[in-house]
Amino acid sequence: MSTVIESTVKNNEHKKNGLYASVVQQFHKAADIMRLDSSIRDILSMTTNEIIVHFPVRMDDGRIKMFSGYRVQHNDVLGPYKGGLRYHPLVNIDEVRALATWMTWKGAITGIPFGGAKGGIQFDPTQYSLREIERITRRFTFALGNNIGPEYDIPAPDVNTNAQIMAWVLDTYLSMMPPHERHRSTHVVTGKPIESGGSIGRDKATGQGVVYTIVEWAKDRKFDLNGATYIVQGFGNVGSWAARLLKPYGAILVAAEDVTGAIANPDGIDPEVLSDHVTSTGGVAGFHNTIPIDHRAFMESEADMFIPAAMENSITGQTAPLLKVRLVAEGANGPTDQAGDQILREKRIDLIPDILCNSGGVVVSYFEWLQNKRSEFWDLEEVDGKLNRRISRAYGQVREAANKFNVDWRTAAYIVALSRLEKVYKERGLFP
Ligand code: NAD
Repeated sequence: MSTVIESTVKNNEHKKNGLYASVVQQFHKAADIMRLDSSIRDILSMTTNEIIVHFPVRMDDGRIKMFSGYRVQHNDVLGPYKGGLRYHPLVNIDEVRALATWMTWKGAITGIPFGGAKGGIQFDPTQYSLREIERITRRFTFALGNNIGPEYDIPAPDVNTNAQIMAWVLDTYLSMMPPHERHRSTHVVTGKPIESGGSIGRDKATGQGVVYTIVEWAKDRKFDLNGATYIVQGFGNVGSWAARLLKPYGAILVAAEDVTGAIANPDGIDPEVLSDHVTSTGGVAGFHNTIPIDHRAFMESEADMFIPAAMENSITGQTAPLLKVRLVAEGANGPTDQAGDQILREKRIDLIPDILCNSGGVVVSYFEWLQNKRSEFWDLEEVDGKLNRRISRAYGQVREAANKFNVDWRTAAYIVALSRLEKVYKERGLFP
């Protein structure tokens, strides 16, 4: 890890303690403007269930080690709890609360029948063997027990988790069920490998959604993506797919950053070849025909668009003033803190907020869940077409709310989500 990135991570560690508080603040800002019913405001400003499990795992050398895992279920009025699993040394209850809450807003904004949840295990997977990661995953799934379920709470991939890990969650969950119930429970997890019941297009779905929102923005701004330049922070699932999917539009990647460092080439970096390099070496550092740059130089890059697709609190009071872009498309969850948000507004940098921009993942997770329930397999054209329609509709609704309430796009996205939740609460009332 380079020194620069280490300091970014430490900075994040400090700030993460306030992540949930900042989500609640964003929520209250929108709730004030739209005059959200006060009882519904009370309900939505708290999480429903918070599960913390400590569980033992046998290491390759025979020792037993304890791990801590989390699952926070924020709200399920729209449908089963839904949200990813993150493996990271900085995972903590505050972060998971914030991420779970964002999932509720994402389900509401895209009109899918899911509530919000998130989970994770506090550990650094780079320090463990694949077999150890499998056992950690299986023991965590066992420890969660019936706190997850196909019609109750459905995990998916997030930072440092992928289709393979979802296959282990699935297998462990099914192994704990009576045999006659196993085959109707494959939708307990989404983002699975295709052969194990995954959906075509789920792997790239979040990056695809990011690109669909950028295309909508470009139409709105009459901005030509052909020849437009952009930078990406985080070259994992979201960042690398967003970059690869922007290539056919003629957009040019000029800098990329991940935990291994940052690289630049003003003449363009081929995202396909960079993805292969990341797969074989573990990061963007050392990619041919690029120069290594530091974090500050990365944030100061001359480019039209910035896609933060790594961790929270990347765009802050310190880094936002450095940005020279005209659009920030938030592939990551919570990449901009409140001070950063304020500076983006002052600098009149357009923003596609996370709960809209990266919602493609949960939308295609919903498609996977539906296909499993109906024993169907859709082709890529169907998945992409349905995703595009949902994202474009959500984008249009956020634009409409921004104009109607004369607010920034983040607040507008919250208003769209909260309006749907308010309607459902008002229709259903409160038992008893
Ligand atoms: P990933 O594990 O595949 O990739 C994470 C990337 O971020 C890696 O390239 C890593 O090196 C980089 N990174 C981590 N810490 C960094 C730092 N301090 N500075 C620079 N780079 C750093 O994860 P992902 O699934 O691509 O998720 C990325 C973001 O997108 C997260 O905020 C996640 O919650 C969000 N997201 C993911 C999905 C999904 O479907 N995977 C859906 C919606 C939102």
